[in-house]
Amino acid sequence: MAKRAYNFNAGPAALPLEVLQKAQEQLVEYQGIGMSIMEISHRSSQYEQLNEETQSLMKELFGIPDGYKVLFLQGGGSTQFAMIPMNFLKAGKTAAYVHTGSWADKALKEAKLFGETAVVASSEADKFTKIPDLSGLQLGENTAYLHITSNETIEGSQYQQYPDTGSVPLIVDMSSDILSRPVDISKFAMIYAGAQKNLGPSGVTVVILREDMLEDLPKNIPTMLKYEIHAKNNSLYNTPPVYSVYMVNLVLKWIKENGGLEAMERRNREKADLIYQAIDGSGGFYSGVVDPAYRSIMNITFRMKDEELEKKFVKESEANGFVGLKGHRSVGGLRASTYNAVPYEACKALAEFMADFQKRNS
Ligand code: PMP
Repeated sequence: MAKRAYNFNAGPAALPLEVLQKAQEQLVEYQGIGMSIMEISHRSSQYEQLNEETQSLMKELFGIPDGYKVLFLQGGGSTQFAMIPMNFLKAGKTAAYVHTGSWADKALKEAKLFGETAVVASSEADKFTKIPDLSGLQLGENTAYLHITSNETIEGSQYQQYPDTGSVPLIVDMSSDILSRPVDISKFAMIYAGAQKNLGPSGVTVVILREDMLEDLPKNIPTMLKYEIHAKNNSLYNTPPVYSVYMVNLVLKWIKENGGLEAMERRNREKADLIYQAIDGSGGFYSGVVDPAYRSIMNITFRMKDEELEKKFVKESEANGFVGLKGHRSVGGLRASTYNAVPYEACKALAEFMADFQKRNS
């Protein structure tokens, strides 16, 4: 059997071994059709069935109530940053954003290209080590929507509870924590996520959209950037990323077989705890970046006393079979991404490596 690395990449990221093996088994011939799923028409009954089944699995696992569409789009989370204001920010309205770090900032910058925006809460003054308290948030009548970033992949912070926005549509970027824990979907008008962290490979972006959001949308935007078109055509307006959707289908089945979202959350907490304990128990040798109350269970960020030591840590970790522990180039430091598919054993091995590295370097 292939020797698998301890993969802590931030995205694209680890996929479940069972999923890769299933894909391997079906690569040359898919369900007796004499071809790979990559070689058939997206108008074929086989793909239509896959498209439907993947939507149904997503609804079932995530507990998506009636009245929402599940769309499979392209262009990543980054295209959603633009599509959201293009579709939902009308003249005379203001799009509200919560600024929690690098990805929230990118979403905001894109919205500014299309209309009025307001930062209604920010953790910038705390260097993005917190998620702002949104419990008393007042949004004006003129607010087109409130946009939040569920999990800041680069800084390593995560919402522990989502705000109530009443009649203002709440839109959330869940790129780096979708399906990692149960969520009350009814709070949201829209959820979006690139697949390449918790859902599958890159190439498909999942959008979950409340149907009333599709009413009365502007007409003068490019066809491919209209939610309405994709919703009307059941994500088959143009050629979809067939193979990525197929992989998402396998990942969803894997989540289901492994106990669903309650089990994912339990396991993700156990995994993250192992690494946070290694940090907190190190007497300051390692230090967590984010305030413990807002720590992410998906992206664990930490620092060491200087960059030299951090470099040495990365180098030695690589020599020991660990991949992806270098922090994002914009913030430095270290980061372990522990998405659904990262095994408990990998996190245990990392915690042990951290303790051992500390012993040898203090
Ligand atoms: N939002 C978040 C929270 C992300 O982590 C990322 C990618 N790392 C993006 C958006 C951008 O996604 P994409 O690369 O799919 O455009």
